[in-house]
Amino acid sequence: MLFSMNTENSNVVRARRDCRLCGSTDLVQVLSFGETPLANAYLSADELDKPEVFAPLVLNACNTCKLVQLRDVVDPKVLFSRYLYVSGTSPVFVAHFADYAKTVAQRFSLTGDSLVIDVGSNDGVLLSHFKKEGAKILGIDPAENIAAEATKNGISTIVAFFKPETAQQVLAEHGQAKVITANNVFAHTDDIIAFTEAVKILLAKDGAFIFEVQYLKDLIEQNLFDMVYHEHLLYYHVTPLVSFFKTCGLRVFDVEHVPTHGGSIRVYVGWDDGPHQTSNRVAQMAAQESDLNEVSTYQIFAKRIEAGGEKLRALIKNLRGEGKRVVGYGAPAKATTLCYAFGIDGSMLDYIIDDSPLKQGLYMPGTHIPIKPSSVLYEDKPDCCLILAWNFAESIAKNHQKFAENGGIFVSPVPEPHILP
Ligand SMILES: [Zn+2]
Repeated sequence: MLFSMNTENSNVVRARRDCRLCGSTDLVQVLSFGETPLANAYLSADELDKPEVFAPLVLNACNTCKLVQLRDVVDPKVLFSRYLYVSGTSPVFVAHFADYAKTVAQRFSLTGDSLVIDVGSNDGVLLSHFKKEGAKILGIDPAENIAAEATKNGISTIVAFFKPETAQQVLAEHGQAKVITANNVFAHTDDIIAFTEAVKILLAKDGAFIFEVQYLKDLIEQNLFDMVYHEHLLYYHVTPLVSFFKTCGLRVFDVEHVPTHGGSIRVYVGWDDGPHQTSNRVAQMAAQESDLNEVSTYQIFAKRIEAGGEKLRALIKNLRGEGKRVVGYGAPAKATTLCYAFGIDGSMLDYIIDDSPLKQGLYMPGTHIPIKPSSVLYEDKPDCCLILAWNFAESIAKNHQKFAENGGIFVSPVPEPHILP
């Protein structure tokens, strides 16, 4: 069942008063979307009249190390209990992971003796590519259903949160890891210090801990405010990461800017006294981040979001005024933030299309907008699609050229709301 409860008088939501990386209590609030529903808490029809979990969606910045982070933590048992996002389902991500595994396998000369551990391994898509590269693999993921599926498909996966106890257990059974990867999970973990302790337990002296996280600089510059949701606790730039790992006896030895999620960083971390040379890129990227260390940057960001919401509501209102029917395309986690931040509800979008069969037939958290398969584009024939999964805008528009040829309109909500040519 889905959890549906009031957060009042419960332990479901907890506000943090200290920085997750440096422990400082000198935090300043830089953005608030008020209380929003949990972005992945899609509802079935019989759950629509039950109470839902809403939690504050507020960003703080640390005045000491400059890390931007969510103030409130929702109990992971509630947050991740019905996680529907399966990475292997998206062809864009499959190609990305194939390239990722190849690059890492070559750079670190992985052999049949090299253990690669992926934390938050999901359906095992990244590990399946490391397996093809000839490495030993092991997945760790807390989602029981997805982990079981991965194991069944030949990607051995331990069901657990990544903590020092988990790491000790893995070390005893499998030995040290040459490569530990973590994608997004390093931004989704509240206790990042325990996570890093676990990495240290497993990381070989010449090993590399490599993680990809959405890049705060892209989030701000490209106005990707809908990347802010309850699972996404930490919003990284290079500066605070360099100082954090230094205090842990580790060292950021390389950073790459990659296109995932509208712009991410792939961060390479090794032992401070390990063999990896530090790339010039680390200092170069940090040098370009000075605006992210200023509160005024976030004040401008908040104003830009407000203006975008006004523009999008006006655009939808005009289309509807002309008798056109508007629907959404894509129901990723970020769609809930977008709807709440921009004030979009069921009176503006008749329904939302999603290509994942797992989501079809369900309803959006909070707004209760129904989710339908893309066949409705040709059966029900709406006039306009607001692309909520904007990172797939290109492939959505390409796959549905016929819809556009029949007069259908695609609208992208970011960086500013606009009709696609
Ligand atoms: Zn800090």
